[in-house]
Order: sequence, then structure tokens, then C-alpha cells
Amino acid sequence: MDYRRAREAIENARYVTIVGHLNPDADTLGTGLGLWWILKEMGKRVDAVYMSHPLPQMLSFLPAFGKIKHAVDARSDLILSVDCGSFDRLGIERPEKAVVVNIDHHRSNTAYGDIDLVEPDYSCAAEVAFRLALSAGWDIPRSAAINFYTALISDTGYFGYEGVNARVFDFAKALLQLGADAEWSARMLRENQPLCKMRLLPKVLETLTLHLQGRAAGLHVTRRMLESAGATVNETDDMVNYARALATVEVGFLIREEEAGGLKVSLRSKSKADVGRIAVAFGGGGHIRAAGFTVYGMEHDMLVEKLLYMIKEEIEA
Ligand code: 5GP
Ligand code: MN
Repeated sequence: MDYRRAREAIENARYVTIVGHLNPDADTLGTGLGLWWILKEMGKRVDAVYMSHPLPQMLSFLPAFGKIKHAVDARSDLILSVDCGSFDRLGIERPEKAVVVNIDHHRSNTAYGDIDLVEPDYSCAAEVAFRLALSAGWDIPRSAAINFYTALISDTGYFGYEGVNARVFDFAKALLQLGADAEWSARMLRENQPLCKMRLLPKVLETLTLHLQGRAAGLHVTRRMLESAGATVNETDDMVNYARALATVEVGFLIREEEAGGLKVSLRSKSKADVGRIAVAFGGGGHIRAAGFTVYGMEHDMLVEKLLYMIKEEIEA
């Protein structure tokens, strides 16, 4: 992996723009803002750019969240993408002159960078960013450690998912030694929820439907449900986990109506099905146990039918 080339490109750049993926989650935000703090500390000219509106306000506790911008400055000579499997999911135009450094952990990553640091075995993109910072010998300020730690606990489900191993705990330990606060990050993620999300939850759970003799379960979210709860798409973020939480279920999915039209699907599996493969087949991407995609011009029922066909194949493979 090209850690040395990434380091040289970043150190030689005059204007770095960090860009995360659309529908940003705690990993893309924590990794991006963590790197923002590290590069600021180095005296770099650096922006953190996320193109989604609105941003998830639940994550506004992340240090430097308020510094986020929504456009790439034309002076940027280096784009540092974080936690993003394909260039189109950044939501930006590819600048002609800027070098693209791709920092990610999605197995489905399309290697769209001029330099690709993609570690599919890593727990979160923050772990890749941390390895880069360590190998480069960069200082990691406390605010960066807090961002990376929050990314880590979010993407591992508080150290509960596959892929959590001794190396991941070494990473966590290093972040705590750099000043991250485990209780605070967990509390801000879990107990800092807006009322609109609680109001939305029963409406979404009401839609729970079992399929394939209880081995799959689906939820859906309509624009109407969001409107009546006063919620945005950001508040549906982890609700798919309720579908997977059922004892008999191997694959849980959530289908959400997007404002611009289209249906956004989130897929989660427990221990057998490779939902990343399903998402890729529909033009999306992700990991083995968590993946997603968006389809346009397809009816909800048709989508469910196609999805179940593929889920059945995965479960029975
Ligand atoms: P979520 O269901 O939470 O949106 O996403 C689950 C995982 O799949 C995340 O790692 C996310 O980055 C990835 N993912 C979700 N939607 C897409 C998509 O449309 N394209 C790609 N490449 N990855 C996606
Ligand atoms: Mn991630």
C-alpha cells in the first residue's frame, strides 16, 4: 500500500480538500474531521467538504463539525476522499488538476484515486487514516483522536461486529492515550438523539414485514412518515438494525423514499449472507454485513421482489 506516496503528496500539497461521502455517517465525518485537525496542526491550508444537505445534526458534537464546507475550493491541488467506495458518492466534480488520495475500507472500493489507501480488513476508515498519520510521523491532536474514536465505535457497533480483533483494540487504546474519551463519545452517539427520531421510530417499526420464512425482514420509510415526525433522512440512519435484530433474521433491509425520487436501500446481515454483493449488483456497494444502493424508476413492490430473490440466493449459498 502506498502510505509513503500518500504522505509525500499530502505534505507537498498547497491546498488540501478532504471530502466525505453523501449521506455522511460518523465514520466519514470522524475520519475527515480527524484528518482536518491533523493537517491544520501541520499548518496546511485545508477544508473538510461534505455535499449532503442537511448534515446529520446529531453528529454536530464532533470537533470542527462547524467548519464543514459544502463546496470544493478551486485552489485545491489535493482531494483526500474518506470512507467512500466510489467517486460518484462524493457528490463532487472530479477536478482536472488535483491529485486524488482515496482513504477507505470498503471492499467494493473502485480504486478511483491517483493514490489508493484501501484496507478492506480495517474496522473503519479512521483506522486507515490513523495508520497513515502514524507512518508519516504526523502529530495527532486530541480533537483528531476524538473524531477517530467516534468513527471507530460507530462503524464497529461499539466493538460488536465482525472484523473487531486485537489490532482494533490497539487502535482504540492509542486513541484513548491521545485523549479520546470513551464514555463521552458513546454517550454523544447514543443519548443525544432528537425527539423527531423517537417519533419516527414507531412509524418505521409499524412497517416491519417478514419474508423467506422469517429469515429476512424489511422496513420502509416514506416521505410522509418523515414529514409527520418532523425528521430528515439522517434520522433513519441505524433503524435497519431493528430488522436484523430479530432472532430468526439473517438479512434485514430498510427502503427509504428519497426526496429527489428514487429508493435508497440499506442492507444488513448477521453471519452468512454477503449483502455487499447484492448492493454491487444493484449499482451500490459496501461491506459483507452492511451495504447499500439507490434505485430510480422502480416501484417499491418490484424492488422488494428482486431484492428477496437475491437475498434468498445469498442465504442459501
Ligand atoms: P447505509 O446502509 O448505512 O447507507 O450503508 C451501509 C454501507 O454501505 C456503508 O459502508 C456505505 O458507505 C455503503 N453504501 C451505502 N449506499 C451505498 C451506495 O449507494 N454506493 C456505495 N458504493 N456504497 C454504499
Ligand atoms: Mn466506514
